[in-house]
Amino acid sequence: MKILRTQEEIKQYSREMKQAGKTIGLVPTMGALHEGHLTLMRTARQAVDVVIASVFVNPVQFGPNEDFDAYPRQFDEDCAKLEEVGVDAVFHPEPAEMYPEGFCTYVNVEGEFTKKLCGGQRPGHFRGVATVVTKLINLARADKAFFGQKDAQQVCVIRRFVEDLAIPVEINMVPIVREDSGLARSSRNVYLSAEEKKAALVLSRSLNMARAAYQGGSRQVSELKKIIVDEINKEPLAVIDYVEIYSFPALEEIDRVEGESIMAIAVKIGKTRLIDNVILEG
Ligand code: AMP
Repeated sequence: MKILRTQEEIKQYSREMKQAGKTIGLVPTMGALHEGHLTLMRTARQAVDVVIASVFVNPVQFGPNEDFDAYPRQFDEDCAKLEEVGVDAVFHPEPAEMYPEGFCTYVNVEGEFTKKLCGGQRPGHFRGVATVVTKLINLARADKAFFGQKDAQQVCVIRRFVEDLAIPVEINMVPIVREDSGLARSSRNVYLSAEEKKAALVLSRSLNMARAAYQGGSRQVSELKKIIVDEINKEPLAVIDYVEIYSFPALEEIDRVEGESIMAIAVKIGKTRLIDNVILEG
């Protein structure tokens, strides 16, 4: 597996692959790789000739009081995992390589839907994501890029700017990968103590309860939300950031679940903010 650290190196690599007639798939990550990330890699492996992963903790998508410094970094372990799933190249730049002096261009998706859910809680977050993903797609010359449903709003944002700016790349969304307990896999799960990890099961449990009610015929959004909120509030270590049910992928307010919809939640367990969601097919 090639390790690429500079813009020049990845540009040259992707140029060579393109000249050889290969299709390129990009899987952007912030590292501390787990089964969720590796499932994206395997999906990409099936879909394209050359898989480029990126491992980059992107400073621009973190707020001033967020966990940029504390975010887990374990590049050597990550490389071993990427190699095992057959990734061809990993791009691992320093922040100054991606944002050199003079950098002043950002991709800002302005739709109302970007201000909801994590966009409302984390101002500037999606501007940082859209900017880095645009740059990574360009550097990798990606034909396809792969993202997790875990960050469903991120997929909505990326699909929007890819369409608006006519970027020639296909965006693929991969379902959420969970631990056996139901906990959605996340690099931030390492912050949880054993007790907090148990408490964190309330995220998937509450969503499953609402999904069961939906499958039993419940369509009223207020009713489904109440099931989730009541269950989370039973957990003393959990504090709700948001519990929302919107149409998907437009993320518009709805009173009843009629078409495809998303139940999305963000919950603090101790100091750790976790997100989870379930898409209802409608
Ligand atoms: P991150 O490293 O957290 O920025 O995540 C990189 C990519 O992996 C994003 O597209 C995430 O949505 C995806 N991802 C993270 N966790 C999961 C998961 N549990 N299941 C599926 N995809 C995931």
